[in-house]
Amino acid sequence: MRLAAACLTTTFVLTQRNGACQRIAGSSNEVLRSDLLPRLARGEIFATVGISHLTTSRQHWRQPAVKVGQTPAGLRFDGEVPWVTGAACADFIVTGGTLGDGRQVLAAIPTNLAGVRVGPPAKLLALGASQTSSVRLDDVLLDERWLIAGPVEQVMKQSAGGGAGSLATSALAVGLSQGAIVHLQIEAERRSDLQEIIVPLRTECDELQTAIIQSAEGTPGTGAPAHSAEAIRGRANSLALRTTQALLAASKGAGFVVGHFAERAVREALFFLVWSCPQPVVDAALREMAGIAPCS
Ligand SMILES: Cc1cc2nc3c(=O)[nH]c(=O)nc-3n(C[C@H](O)[C@H](O)[C@H](O)COP(=O)(O)OP(=O)(O)OC[C@H]3O[C@@H](n4cnc5c(N)ncnc54)[C@H](O)[C@@H]3O)c2cc1C
Repeated sequence: MRLAAACLTTTFVLTQRNGACQRIAGSSNEVLRSDLLPRLARGEIFATVGISHLTTSRQHWRQPAVKVGQTPAGLRFDGEVPWVTGAACADFIVTGGTLGDGRQVLAAIPTNLAGVRVGPPAKLLALGASQTSSVRLDDVLLDERWLIAGPVEQVMKQSAGGGAGSLATSALAVGLSQGAIVHLQIEAERRSDLQEIIVPLRTECDELQTAIIQSAEGTPGTGAPAHSAEAIRGRANSLALRTTQALLAASKGAGFVVGHFAERAVREALFFLVWSCPQPVVDAALREMAGIAPCS
């Protein structure tokens, strides 16, 4: 949260690296773990994730975005991984694909393998420095020593690291909100009328921070999360949008000029509407925007 308050882009890139590390650490493939984790920990190699096509992206497509075939020489990957942050700098991409029978695999694919092609970084509304690209996998032949999990049904539900909308994604939204509140406070030092705006936002932000920490720690005894990750993500998205827009409104036209913290924060808050956002959270946001009652 504190890192995201300082720089959302840097922190976002770190989450993608952490996501890769968590999935490798949670693998039952001992050879893979002992090969990659020490090198990752020492910062000798960089790994990132490209897993959205197994969770939130391209779910309406008839064909899987990445098809996998089993051959005597290893697994053959063919398709496009739509979103990979920091791909151009990555030594390994933790990604997956779907076999003909519907089972899925997750693997750490070395980016220097024949057939791996990193696309140019997408031009984005915000977080452009995250260098997020699509990655083509054209008949990439992968030795099974790089396998993290599978073949299994719904590999993302079986492997460690959490699915879309994990607590970490909400922590980043809260961090951005904290940054916006700090800048609102700077405005309020010269304009006392802003105090009544800041107080409820800060209270809500503190409560959400507590909820995230409690959920991460789990309920004593059972270890179950104190709040659902989905409910927290919905609250965090709403708070990030409101705090950054409150800052823009309070900063007036000066906040609309490129380079002001407010204009950047407003754009960055929009990221949470699309990044790793579970469908129920998207649906609830859309219903709110349309002015219709939430689903019961
Ligand atoms: C800046 C950025 C960085 C990201 N980094 C990563 C990363 O490092 N790793 C990673 O795994 N993921 C990453 N993601 C992916 C992210 O988590 C989401 O998966 C992604 O934003 C989902 O958007 P999509 O356009 O791929 O969704 P899609 O569902 O594929 O939607 C694309 C388009 O398809 C159409 N469509 C959508 N649903 C339907 C439907 N039901 N029926 C018909 N048409 C439909 C719409 O026209 C829509 O615009 C990143 C996303 C962003 C924006």
